[in-house]
Amino acid sequence: MAYFIDVILPIPVEKAFTYAINKDEAIYLRPGMRVAVPFGKSKIYSGIVKHIHQEHPQIYEPKPIAYILDEDILITATQLQLWEWIAQYYMCTQGEILRAALPRTFLLESETIIRKEKNVSDVELDDTSFILVEALEHQSQLKIEEVMAILGKRNVLPIIDRLLHKGVLSIQEEVYEKYTPKLVAYVKLTEQYQSEEALHALLDSLGRAPKQRQLVLHFFSLKAKSKNEIKTTQLLKQASATTTQLQALVKKGVFVVDKKKEDRVSFAEATAVEKALSAAQTAALAELKNTFKEKEVCLLHGVTSSGKTEVYVRLIKEMLETGRQVLYLLPEIALTTQLIRRLELYFGNKIAVFHSKYSVNERTEVWNNVLAGAPNAQLIIGARSAVLLPFKDLGLIVVDEEHESSFKQFDPAPRYHARDTAIVLGKLHDAKVLLGSATPAIETYYNAQQGKYGLTILNERYGNVLMPEIQLVDIKEKRRKRLMTGYFSDTLLRNITDTLEEGEQVILFQNRRGYSPILECTTCGFAPQCPNCDVSLTYHKYRDQLRCHYCSHHIAVQQKCQACGSAELTTKGFGTEQVESALKELYPEASISRMDSDTTRGKHAFEKLITAFEDGDIDILVGTQMLTKGLDFRNVTLVGILQADTLLNYPNFRAHERSYQLIAQVSGRAGRTKKRGKVLVQTYNPYHQILQQVSVNNYEAMYAEQLEERHTYKYPPFHRLIKITLKHRDYQKMEEASLWLAQSLRNVLGASNVLGPETPHISRIRNLYHKHIMIKIMPKQSLKAVKKDILRVQSSFKAIAPYRSVRFILDVDTYA
Ligand code: ADP
Ligand code: ZN
Ligand code: ZN
Repeated sequence: MAYFIDVILPIPVEKAFTYAINKDEAIYLRPGMRVAVPFGKSKIYSGIVKHIHQEHPQIYEPKPIAYILDEDILITATQLQLWEWIAQYYMCTQGEILRAALPRTFLLESETIIRKEKNVSDVELDDTSFILVEALEHQSQLKIEEVMAILGKRNVLPIIDRLLHKGVLSIQEEVYEKYTPKLVAYVKLTEQYQSEEALHALLDSLGRAPKQRQLVLHFFSLKAKSKNEIKTTQLLKQASATTTQLQALVKKGVFVVDKKKEDRVSFAEATAVEKALSAAQTAALAELKNTFKEKEVCLLHGVTSSGKTEVYVRLIKEMLETGRQVLYLLPEIALTTQLIRRLELYFGNKIAVFHSKYSVNERTEVWNNVLAGAPNAQLIIGARSAVLLPFKDLGLIVVDEEHESSFKQFDPAPRYHARDTAIVLGKLHDAKVLLGSATPAIETYYNAQQGKYGLTILNERYGNVLMPEIQLVDIKEKRRKRLMTGYFSDTLLRNITDTLEEGEQVILFQNRRGYSPILECTTCGFAPQCPNCDVSLTYHKYRDQLRCHYCSHHIAVQQKCQACGSAELTTKGFGTEQVESALKELYPEASISRMDSDTTRGKHAFEKLITAFEDGDIDILVGTQMLTKGLDFRNVTLVGILQADTLLNYPNFRAHERSYQLIAQVSGRAGRTKKRGKVLVQTYNPYHQILQQVSVNNYEAMYAEQLEERHTYKYPPFHRLIKITLKHRDYQKMEEASLWLAQSLRNVLGASNVLGPETPHISRIRNLYHKHIMIKIMPKQSLKAVKKDILRVQSSFKAIAPYRSVRFILDVDTYA
């Protein structure tokens, strides 16, 4: 009888690969364990066992696996099911999901390096192994391919495998950081000194070593204070002793020092009880609980500052009490700082955070804890990729700010939407899913209206604070009347001055980072372009550079126009940096800071800015989108939006919806305590329907109008979209390939379902030309059938030799 396994490999191959295993391995292995397998000529990869079976593959002779890496599963059966769904729905490979999901420490691969582990005189070695071990005496490490050369044979994996298992060798990963758990040392009293008499005798005998005697006494005083084990560092600090003094006592057999793994990211014990809910919150909570009896998914549509978080907290608490895990998804991890601080009060050390800015070791720890259902991984907080964690038993998923587009992965594949994936994950776990937002996505609201999701509305702000007053400021009019000072209208400046005088804070929103998007010649109109991309370079003042926001190309700012030599250069448009420096001139006394992706790069940069703003060390905070996301500041009474038009005119079918969401969200940062907040929206077009709707906080009107437009122009939620992007260096080939593809798709799917090829707004990025083809899928059409057709056309496309080098990217439910 022959046995086989299908293995998911972290490389872009379409299918799982089949490998041969023996009977013992077949008994031992389970789906979700890792195996190392040979691939291609000499590569070794770690992969995940997907399926164990007895069917010999039809077209190739399967190779044997190299070794088994796990004693227990690393990927749960539920995860494998979820991956199956993601791969099918988002048209990607399971290998791509594997790469996105697993911290890299789990994916030993490529040029694995082996080392000699210990003195091997006591291990019996055959001749071949002996040669290898001897080689490692001279060179501390060898690559697998070097081993092949030394031994003069290809099939070295079983040898290495055996030596690995005997502990003679270890593998070391050169490419990736190795996972090393952080160890913490604890001090314990040995058995011998547990009794009173023995102790007294000991203390007497230490008469001539007063420092050691002190150490022992401090040990007991610490012991009396807490039931916890005593950390070495804690004891040494308390006794002002040195490691040498402690070592002396260890030598005498008084203490033992024990090293234990400690998770890097740990939280203190919970310290607070939940707040009493307002009547509106209580009603919303009751309604949600009731709806969850019938529906799997509920939308909580609560205006900004209505206290949605406190409602989530109640539901989370109840779920944790039943012993099931809770996943709390946030759009961007930048946000977690404030939220974690809030949730930590309630849930303390039950919290685990899965954070892209944490080190790979930290993420590995979280992975292991979530998989084990450890006490410190009951409430898991994270952004998008946290939905891919190995939950043991998930009872509730909260998707906070569910409308945020950053839940959709853009690049690379898997291009999944974490909210939609969470709903599928919820089904697999039989968990409830709570979507929360003040400005729900049109799709989500539609699903709620259709009765697919439950809907609970929270219409008042906590503490009955009024919604901020939103005033539209016509800057065309202001310019005509010469009432603008740079980017600021007289109305905005007057309000800033008043707010600062009251000792309150201001937030100013500008949609662009950088000093000013472009530097233009006033004589000939020339603006320096990126040589790799089809965009103008952006002016960054603090570095005195022109930078490309698409690739990292940058040059020093030139004093003269490269085209005509004129020295009259002017900046066109403006970004956060320019707003910040203009403000500093207008308000030299005020403390002004900027929050955008340039100023928040480091791990703690965002946290520092937020804390400074919360503490009142900053009077005016200028920022991009980052400012809009659910932050809760107490003393902000004025929000200014410098130019709403750039948002509205963005060429995307979601532009209007997004403008509404953005303006409503950034406005929501104002007046969250007693005093009513004020929002000033500067615009050239104050009669734009979106601005009118947002100024009276009429989400329903916005929704109704947008839905109508989506219907007319065949967009989601009625039609589904799949976007195909082609990329290539050669413009001509691209053009030809895209025409061929569009025609073939039209032949198969029908002419009205295929749009393009179109040259995107930015047609070249990093020296690659881009073309888009959009596929619209009608409500009654089968999504599965259409995808199958697309894949068929894709393989015909790939079969045409000159097109093989064209990059072919599929984006299902595209946002871009
Ligand atoms: P949302 O998420 O809906 O914007 P938050 O949950 O951030 O609103 O609540 C807004 C503010 O009101 C927060 O500072 C929060 O601490 C406070 N708050 C909300 N509910 C209560 C409550 N029941 N008791 C006391 N304070 C509350
Ligand atoms: Zn010029
Ligand atoms: Zn560029």
